[in-house]
Amino acid sequence: MSSAPPGSDTDRIWTNWGGNQTCTAAVFARPRDETEVVAAVRHAIDRGLNVRVAGSGHSFTPVVPTGGMLLDLTRLTGVTATDPSRLRATALAGTTVGDFGAPLWEAGLSLTNQGDIDKQVIAGAIATGTHGSGIDLPSFSAALRRVRLVDGRGEVVEIDEGDARRLRAAQVAIGSLGVMLEVELAVSAAYHLAEEISYRPWRQIVESWDELIAGHRHFSFFWCPADESADLYQLPAPPDQPMADHCYVKLYDEAEVDEPAGIVTTEGHRVDRAYRIYPGGFDTPFHEMEYMVPAEHGFEAVSAIRELMRTEHPDQRYPIEVRWTAADEAYLSPNHRRATTVVSVSGAPGTDYWPFLRAVDERLREFRARPHWGKLHFMTRDRMAGLFDEFDAFLDVRREFDPNGTFLNDHLRPLLT
Ligand SMILES: Cc1cc2nc3c(=O)[nH]c(=O)nc-3n(C[C@H](O)[C@H](O)[C@H](O)COP(=O)(O)OP(=O)(O)OC[C@H]3O[C@@H](n4cnc5c(N)ncnc54)[C@H](O)[C@@H]3O)c2cc1C
Repeated sequence: MSSAPPGSDTDRIWTNWGGNQTCTAAVFARPRDETEVVAAVRHAIDRGLNVRVAGSGHSFTPVVPTGGMLLDLTRLTGVTATDPSRLRATALAGTTVGDFGAPLWEAGLSLTNQGDIDKQVIAGAIATGTHGSGIDLPSFSAALRRVRLVDGRGEVVEIDEGDARRLRAAQVAIGSLGVMLEVELAVSAAYHLAEEISYRPWRQIVESWDELIAGHRHFSFFWCPADESADLYQLPAPPDQPMADHCYVKLYDEAEVDEPAGIVTTEGHRVDRAYRIYPGGFDTPFHEMEYMVPAEHGFEAVSAIRELMRTEHPDQRYPIEVRWTAADEAYLSPNHRRATTVVSVSGAPGTDYWPFLRAVDERLREFRARPHWGKLHFMTRDRMAGLFDEFDAFLDVRREFDPNGTFLNDHLRPLLT
């Protein structure tokens, strides 16, 4: 065997989007196809190297870094099959969320939901439980119906709906079962969305909380502690709009549209194909923490964090983002068997935001909050065992797939063994 796997590269230093995670891998490889992925993993196993895959680097947690082998699957990209009769789409693991848009539309299909950006690779989005907003809308992980991956023995394995036990582990595995090659997702018939943006005082959100959640396909908002908060997330507030204790509110509902006449691109009110409505952009890095609480406690939880920011942490200026996600069955999903309200806060890079994040973590503990695996959190193995009812079932599957811990790194080993 040669000393480097096929598709190897010399660029071994990796840094994430937020600039808070970096690593220098012993081996960096960009395989071109399944055969090269298998060869790369076997190369690592033979040399006792750990293996991690880098998606598009949009996680804030150390879920990618390794001193072993780092794989980049950006050459394994593209939607490979669509099935409108079964509402299914299949894609290679390195396909970005954005790359699903046009090919699915041509097949009469759309992703059922999307988040704030569409830069993530689909395998990265699935690995961490990435979601959009909508109390009835599941995460990308919950949409996974079949996955083909290379396991810790260097073998290609397929998991499908016939094997619920292993599929529920693979749906949120933070890359710890193996290298995903191809995924099949449950998707929706193609749909248009009408977007309404409004700026509302907090008390208006309080008054219409349940109605906003139940009455719209997608409801989400950013609560701003200060006037300058909107700028930190590039929320396009009009210049005369006071933002302190106000919310930037996004409502999306399905719309019947004849193209091209029905397409509307007015700021604040747009009507377009779903995949063109969802993605926004964040140009300036921030460091985000996100926890999910049972939806029935959502109002209490958000109010507690608002109060915390107004009283004990008035120096923290990033908005609180609030969203909803449907319940699912994945063992490690923050939405495991409960619909959730998603509460996210951010700190400014280069500042000591840790006391604030720790205080948020403390406040949300009483709601049995579970973390987004790609965003900062304070989980320990003991805490996970108490929060995830089927944690042991996940660990059993993980050990079957990766008996020697090839796919663990320093962050995941203490959590998942
Ligand atoms: C600006 C910004 C906006 C965001 N918006 C949202 C949002 O709206 N909703 C939300 O839920 N999250 C959001 N996130 C978080 C983001 O969606 C997740 O962190 C997601 O995992 C990032 O995907 P990625 O492709 O960047 O993966 P990475 O961060 O690169 O990797 C994530 C995990 O996936 C694993 N992985 C990647 N590819 C494979 C593979 N082929 N096989 C096995 N494992 C693999 C990695 O090893 C790692 O463990 C946002 C993050 C940022 C920075």
